[in-house]
Parts: sequence; C-alpha cells; structure tokens
Amino acid sequence: MTESPFKPCPFCGDAAFIRTSYDEDECYWAWVECKGCGARTRGHWASDSSNTCPIFYAEVRDDWNQRSPTHLMNKESF
Ligand SMILES: [Zn+2]
Repeated sequence: MTESPFKPCPFCGDAAFIRTSYDEDECYWAWVECKGCGARTRGHWASDSSNTCPIFYAEVRDDWNQRSPTHLMNKESF
C-alpha cells in the first residue's frame, strides 16, 4: 500500500479513497469517498476508463483535499 494522497475525512477523520463507476450509459465517473462515514466529493466525469491520467485524478483529489463545501457532501446532503 502506498500512502494515501487524500487528507483525512473532515467529518469523521477516517481515511478516504478513490471510487470509480460506470453509469447506465457507460460513462465513467470518479470521486473520493470516506470509508468511515461515506462523505464524498462530487463525481468527475471522464469520457472513458482510459482517462486515468494524473491530471484527471488530481482534480478529483483536489476537490477532496480543498474541502470546498460546494464540492464535498456528507451523508445528510445526498
Ligand atoms: Zn468521514
């Protein structure tokens, strides 16, 4: 395991990790989610799974690490 690039969760202090998913249209999404309380950033859309470049992941990571309220949701705001 490498050290996480994500800061601890601002809500519960637990570790965060990157999640990725395909939606029903096979669009590829990535976001950062807390493994403790489920707080997460908004999803970032990528055109397809080949978009794994560091810049793309840096955007997702920055959403989490900058803790902007417009980019970060806790469970109650889902
Ligand atoms: Zn949390």
